[in-house]
Amino acid sequence: MSRPRLAGRACYLGAVNASTTPPWPPRPALFLDVDGTLLELADHPSRVSVSPRLRGLLPELPKATGGAVALISGRRIEDLDRILAPHSYVAAGVHGLERRDVRGRLLTSGGTPQSLAEVRALVDEFVEARSGLWVEDKGAAFAVHYRSRPELEPEVHCFVGELQDRLPPDVEVLLGHSVFEIKAGVVNKGSAITAFMEEPPFTGRTPVFLGDDVTDEAGFAAVNELGGISVKVGSGPTIARWRLDDVEAVLSWLDAAVRSGG
Ligand SMILES: [Mg+2]
Repeated sequence: MSRPRLAGRACYLGAVNASTTPPWPPRPALFLDVDGTLLELADHPSRVSVSPRLRGLLPELPKATGGAVALISGRRIEDLDRILAPHSYVAAGVHGLERRDVRGRLLTSGGTPQSLAEVRALVDEFVEARSGLWVEDKGAAFAVHYRSRPELEPEVHCFVGELQDRLPPDVEVLLGHSVFEIKAGVVNKGSAITAFMEEPPFTGRTPVFLGDDVTDEAGFAAVNELGGISVKVGSGPTIARWRLDDVEAVLSWLDAAVRSGG
């Protein structure tokens, strides 16, 4: 049976099928980044708002995927629950350091490496010397936001480069949109997706992952490896094989998939 054409502009990043939308596979396992993918970015992570369209759409997604849908975020899971209340979803938080499976069990990977505290001291010194920067504590990771000081980006990138050279092997730094994050390096969004794919109801389905940021590239790599559908949201270099323009295009694409019966 042919499916209706899905709404939203999209293109394949290769030379073939340049005008096609990302396909919706027959048995999808759907993985969704949150900020910049489902939610418009805000000048502060606490000020994001959930559109009425997303509020209506999200609870429909498990029905369209046999329950195989998970949020894959850099936020803590408790933060996702607060934003999306009263619903709570299967999710990976803090780039995979936290994971809540389909049975509601919370799985966390390891503890906080001692070396993370040492890096934190260097970062605090950098942040305290510059107004408008602030540190978000995520337990086994922390993020430094500089959205209100975009002119500092070259300086921040320079600092991150220096930091990278000094990081112990069990810690990594991730650069995102107006943010950099320091986390234990044992997991990432790709390993979180792979872990879900080894569990029902995800097993045996085709993984689909949508994300907008550099930290989502590990997820795209995992999905490409598994023969799935990787979709970059917005501009910028990527290894994803499809692209959607923005949050609106994502919601239209998901909405069309749900309305066509999933
Ligand atoms: Mg994002």
